[in-house]
Amino acid sequence: MKDTAFDVPYKIYLGEHEMPDKWHNIRAAMKEKPEPFIHPATGKPCVKDDLLPVFCEELVEQELNVTDEYINIPDEILSFYKMFRPSPLVRAYCLEKVLDTPAKIYYKFEGNNTSGSHKLNSAAAQAYYAKKQGLTHLTTETGAGQWGSALSMACAYFGLELTVYMVKVSSEQKPYRKVLMETYGAKVVPSPSDTTEIGKKILSENPGTGGSLGCAVSEAIEIAVKSQKCRYVLGSVLNHVLLHQSVIGLETKLAMDKYGLKPDVIIGCAGGGSNLGGLISPYMADKIRGNNNIEFIAVEPASCPSFTRGKYALDFGDTGQTTPLIKMYTVGSGFIPSPNHAGGLRYHGMNPALSKLYHDGYMTAKSYIQSDVFAAAEKFARCEGILPAPESAHAIKGAFDEALKCKETGEEKVILFGLTGTGYFDMTAYQSYHEGKMSDSVPTDEDLQKGFNTLPNIS
Ligand SMILES: *Cc1c(COP(=O)(O)O)cnc(C)c1O
Repeated sequence: MKDTAFDVPYKIYLGEHEMPDKWHNIRAAMKEKPEPFIHPATGKPCVKDDLLPVFCEELVEQELNVTDEYINIPDEILSFYKMFRPSPLVRAYCLEKVLDTPAKIYYKFEGNNTSGSHKLNSAAAQAYYAKKQGLTHLTTETGAGQWGSALSMACAYFGLELTVYMVKVSSEQKPYRKVLMETYGAKVVPSPSDTTEIGKKILSENPGTGGSLGCAVSEAIEIAVKSQKCRYVLGSVLNHVLLHQSVIGLETKLAMDKYGLKPDVIIGCAGGGSNLGGLISPYMADKIRGNNNIEFIAVEPASCPSFTRGKYALDFGDTGQTTPLIKMYTVGSGFIPSPNHAGGLRYHGMNPALSKLYHDGYMTAKSYIQSDVFAAAEKFARCEGILPAPESAHAIKGAFDEALKCKETGEEKVILFGLTGTGYFDMTAYQSYHEGKMSDSVPTDEDLQKGFNTLPNIS
C-alpha cells in the first residue's frame, strides 16, 4: 500500500457507532480444526457437561463452538467496551524516523484503561456471563497482574466477588498491582498458598518456589469447583478468550480498510496467545481463504519458549493436572520458568487454535532474551511517548527487527503490531534493566526436558 499510505493520521480512531458488534471466531474459518479437549480419565473428547462445574455455561458454549464465524456481542458488554474502546491504531511516524526505515509501522494500542492491558476485553465478557448465570463469586489466577486487575474492574462493574491467586514472584515484584485489585474489591492471595490442597502440596515439594501460572490456575480451580455459585475464569489460552480479543483485530481491520492499508507483516507477543490471536483473527481467516499472504509472527520470551522450543502435544492446562487435556504447543505443565519480568508471558502452553495454525505453517514464531526486549522498550518509550509493558515490548522488538530488515532491502512493508499494554507497574523491571542487573536466563535442553517429562503419557 505504498501509494495510499500518504495521508494517514498519527492516530486512526473509529467512531463508537463503527465499533464491531460481533466477535470473530477464527476456528470457524479453519479448514482443519484444533483438536477437542480430552477428558484425562476417559481419553474421550470433553463435552459440555464435563466443563460446566469449572466454567460459566455461556463461555463453555463459546469454547466448544467451532462453526459460527461471528458471535454477537451482548449490549451490556458493548456498553462496557465503550468506556475504553475503540482503541487507537497509531501510525508510528516518530519511530520510523528513529529507526530510519522505509517500512510503515502501525500499532494497535490496548493500554488505554486502568487495568493497563487488552485483558479487559475478555474480563468484561466473562464477568457479564457469570452474572447472567446467577453466580456470585469468581476465582482466577494472575501472573503479572494485568488479568487480575482487569477482572477486578469487571467484577466491580457487574457486582461479583473475586478471589485472585497471584503468582508469588509477581506479587513481590509488583506490590501495587495487589493494591489496585483490592481497590476494585478483589481478594488477592500469593500462590502457591496454604489455602488449597494443591498449594500445600506444591509448597511441600518446592519450598521457596516463586510459583507459576500453572500452580495458580490449580489453586483457583480447586476453590471454584467446591461451590455451586462460584466458577473459575481464565484470562488467556482458551478459545473463548481469543474470541473476545478478536475485537482488537476487527477494529484494526476496519481502521486500516478506511485508509486502504494492507499489512504485510503482523506481529504480536504471545503468552497464552489471546492478544495475538485476537489481533490476527480476521486477517488470518482471509489468509486461510487465500485472500492475502500476510506474515504472522508470534514473539515469546526465550525464558518460556512454548512455540519455538516446545512440543505440539496433549497437556494439562495447570501444574496440578486438574484441567482437561489440551493439544497445544507446550513446554510441559510442570515447567517452572525462571523468574522473568515479562510475567504475563510465562505460561507453559499456547492457545490450541493458534497452536494448530502454527503447526500447519500459517504463522511463524521467534523468541528474544529480556535485555534485548527492554532495550527496544526504552527506545520505543523515548520516541512514541508510551511506556510499554514488558510483554508488549516483545512485539516491539519483533517489529524493530522487521523494520530494520526493510532498511537493508529498501522494502516499504506495512508492519502492524499489537501494543498490548502499559508498564507503569513494571518499574522494578525497568530499574533492574537500567542498573544492568537484568538476567537473561534461557532454559537449557535439560531444563526443558524436565518440563517435557511432565507431559501426560497419552498417544
Ligand atoms: C497477559 C498479557 C500478555 C500476554 O497474554 P496473551 O494471552 O498471550 O495475549 C501480553 N501483554 C500484556 C500487556 C498482558 O497483560
